[in-house]
Amino acid sequence: MDKTFGQADPKLREYIETTYHPEDAVLRDVRRRTREAGLPEIQVGVLDGRHLTTLAAALGARRVVEIGTLGGYSGICLLRGTPADGFLHTFELDPHHADVAAESFRAAGLAGRVRVHVGPAAERLAAIEAEAPFDLVFVDADKVSYPIYLDWAARHLRPGGGVLLDNAFLFGELVAEPRGERAAAIEAMRRTHAELAGSGRWLATVLPTGEGLAFGVRLG
Ligand code: SAH
Ligand code: MG
Repeated sequence: MDKTFGQADPKLREYIETTYHPEDAVLRDVRRRTREAGLPEIQVGVLDGRHLTTLAAALGARRVVEIGTLGGYSGICLLRGTPADGFLHTFELDPHHADVAAESFRAAGLAGRVRVHVGPAAERLAAIEAEAPFDLVFVDADKVSYPIYLDWAARHLRPGGGVLLDNAFLFGELVAEPRGERAAAIEAMRRTHAELAGSGRWLATVLPTGEGLAFGVRLG
């Protein structure tokens, strides 16, 4: 799958990227440093980064939660969609990833507006619950835990707040036969979609980016 754009024609992608220039020098440098630090190249694509910024702004988000920090690329995009007092709590399992991300937030001039929580998100999220409700939750970590993260978002977003979940197509596996070692992830992603589409807690859609970006608004 093309990770950068939900259209097969590369000329369309080029047109959009050269018109909207979604990746500035700071983000380019974060992408390069993340690669050089040996982290996997699985951060959001350049236009997906712009989606995060734009959607955060559209939601009027000020208090944002991210699950799956990696090198900080998407976290910077989220914060750029918030006002000057916007704050991001971002959760990362791997301490090395968290170190790289901390440097990214410094380089982007955002160090004072973010806290990187290190450890398994499902356990660490409790640490910020006293600050709820939040305006936006972005989910981009271990796919088997998406139902847990989505339920957490439902319980800690304000009415009208938004949840965004990356890789909603599960790399094309969403519609594959759930067999073998991938079965748990496929079943978890399908439960995630069932909750978004049918629980009554959300008004939701899936933006057809290369990866699929599920987007739910919490109903009051
Ligand atoms: N959102 C990032 C990319 C995240 S990649 C960006 O677009 O820039 C997924 C990240 O989730 C990895 O860094 C991985 O270490 C982290 N992760 C995996 N399982 C996790 C868990 N249980 N809790 C918190 N983070 C986890
Ligand atoms: Mg992702």
